[in-house]
Amino acid sequence: MVSRPPNAFLLNRIASLLPVWLFLTSAPLASAANWTVHAQPARLVNGAPVLFQVEPPLRLASLNGSWLGHQIPFSFDAKNKTWFALAGVSLETEPGTYPLELTGEPVAGKSPGTKTSFSRTFAVARGKYPKIKVALSVEGKFTEPNPEQQKQIEEGQQIKKDYLNRVTPDREWSGPFSVPAEAGISDVFGSERIFNGKTSSPHLGLDFRVPSGTPVAAMNDGTVLLARLLYFEGNFVVLDHGQGLLTLYLHLSEFKVKEGEQVKRGQIIGLSGGTGRATGPHLHVAVRWQGTYLDPAQLMRLRLP
Ligand SMILES: [Zn+2]
Repeated sequence: MVSRPPNAFLLNRIASLLPVWLFLTSAPLASAANWTVHAQPARLVNGAPVLFQVEPPLRLASLNGSWLGHQIPFSFDAKNKTWFALAGVSLETEPGTYPLELTGEPVAGKSPGTKTSFSRTFAVARGKYPKIKVALSVEGKFTEPNPEQQKQIEEGQQIKKDYLNRVTPDREWSGPFSVPAEAGISDVFGSERIFNGKTSSPHLGLDFRVPSGTPVAAMNDGTVLLARLLYFEGNFVVLDHGQGLLTLYLHLSEFKVKEGEQVKRGQIIGLSGGTGRATGPHLHVAVRWQGTYLDPAQLMRLRLP
């Protein structure tokens, strides 16, 4: 958490409008004018990932951000001399203006013991996700489970609760996220679906139209967090890319990796299938960031360092 008086942001804004010489005796305010903070994409929507890029006015040893209640550690890109962090906006976030609060630790010797901070707000618009209701027919055991099936569902829920909210400190991903399979898209993120006449929650992943047995590739470097059979997900692989960013691969017919194994982008982690709650063979891929699902298609479009 960034602790500072509530009017500090306003002061920073005023400082940025006034000539710098007025503040020569007050380093934090004078330097505030020189921070540059960019977001990619420039227009933020709910459900989308975002890359923040920051150029602070002084050399920093570390930089951390606070965004929509999440703590985000920044990495330094030596080539472009910018700090960057991958974050997101949950699907539930209402349109509005939200602050990115930055706190940096200057390189030792520069300003020992002092922290420097800066805040910038970003507008979040409402994402346009399809509201086409797809009439799907799945086996009754998925909509009206018996007690034994209910037990398996609860076991799956517990495993997801235990694993899917993990935030490991080190970043393992680097560069862009690539497609897990070269195939057409059969359902996009955010669409509403109906199972056997009952409205289900929005589709929180991206579906690829692939026959059973198609190789599925890791979208980026990471560690295999889960490679298990769950009730709804079927054969389920979860990769941990670090700092709370996970990619999930569902309904596989076969595993090609084991839990704890390190994988590289493009490495085959399994074969597609139709295990779990699936109307037929397809690949459902999801992106989870610090407990919230983000649109995989928008993640793959980001130009990442
Ligand atoms: Zn899906």
